[in-house]
Amino acid sequence: MESPLNPPWPSPNEDTHRVLRELAESGDWGRYHGPHCERLSSLLKSMHNVDHVHLCSSGTAAIELALRSIPVQSGDEVILAAYDFKANFVNVLTIGATPVLVDTLPGLPVIDVQQIEQAITPGTKAVIVSHLHGCLAPMDSIRQLLDGTGICLIEDACQVPGAVVNGKPAGAWGDAGTLSFGGSKLLTAGRGGAILFKDPQMAQRARLYTQRGNDAYPLSEMQAAILRPQLDSLADLNSHRANSVSRLLNQLETDPQIQPAMNHDPRKADAMNQPAFYKVAFRFCSVEPTERSREKFLTSAKAEGLAVDAGFSALHLTHSRRRFNSVGTLEHATALHHELIKLHHPVLLQSPKTIDAVAAILTGAAKTTRGWTHSQPELFDAGTWCSKLF
Ligand SMILES: *Cc1c(COP(=O)(O)O)cnc(C)c1O
Repeated sequence: MESPLNPPWPSPNEDTHRVLRELAESGDWGRYHGPHCERLSSLLKSMHNVDHVHLCSSGTAAIELALRSIPVQSGDEVILAAYDFKANFVNVLTIGATPVLVDTLPGLPVIDVQQIEQAITPGTKAVIVSHLHGCLAPMDSIRQLLDGTGICLIEDACQVPGAVVNGKPAGAWGDAGTLSFGGSKLLTAGRGGAILFKDPQMAQRARLYTQRGNDAYPLSEMQAAILRPQLDSLADLNSHRANSVSRLLNQLETDPQIQPAMNHDPRKADAMNQPAFYKVAFRFCSVEPTERSREKFLTSAKAEGLAVDAGFSALHLTHSRRRFNSVGTLEHATALHHELIKLHHPVLLQSPKTIDAVAAILTGAAKTTRGWTHSQPELFDAGTWCSKLF
């Protein structure tokens, strides 16, 4: 149901009306080849400072094409976090390669670089690293680890267009960087995606694979035209969203059950690391840390109209062991599977008053879960379950 707490996305926008009117008048919407895809490509190139952009039909297709462009082949190994977007795992299987799952950092949906190092074998062909739910993966140390090894890095920036990681645009660190223009995403054409390449040979492989007399994974002129003005407003909207997250963090600071699962605090100015918020992640640290208490919490918050959901299911807990290899215990990914909650981004563009209402709903829902209140702190040693990250 639409309300200030759950506003529509994409939000009504005069630029979209204008673009659609112009497309209708020019007839550009019906063309296979026109100026809009070319213009979008060149804007994405300069925004990310890369030489090659391949537009495609979705972020999922972008990851598949990135794997094929390396090329990852049947029998190769691809390392990724056990807490990641399901399609990334399935894409590796689609190619006939073996996913090798590694753990995240404790309490954070961020791949653990030391675990990547342990997972590398002579069969490793690529590593997929995703920036998830307002966190930024440490791309400089991952690059350092992989440089000179011949292992390719796919940087999944589908959730973070416009973010800055270690001083560079998100997506620009990988041998291939992927973007999504899916319906819920920060840049949206309903569907769509893009791959950013440094290496002309990899870009050429993506072209050869998709060109079958016609483009097999196309982005249309109409989609490209709708995306254009969104690039202009992205930075402003990202900073509005970051301000809202800052306000939310201030309000939730005293609630020990709702812990931010972020590795960059948007309240601290840091030009080198600027997250983008497609989701805002917290760990719900219940007195009774089971999946059911999180479900109770979510049901209660959703009943108030808030768009908040459980995080991803960890890949090792939802797929047959025959399908993947792994290193270590994957205990932190397991914990995220049970504890992570994510708030959806559209509410972040609302007024400060609405953000305060969001905070009140989250704390209220936490209190109703198992009847625990702040007046009974002896029941709950927050330090044991949830150490404050900041
Ligand atoms: C959305 C998303 C994708 C895939 O994008 P689609 O366009 O929906 O196929 C890939 N990775 C991550 C992390 C995503 O959030």
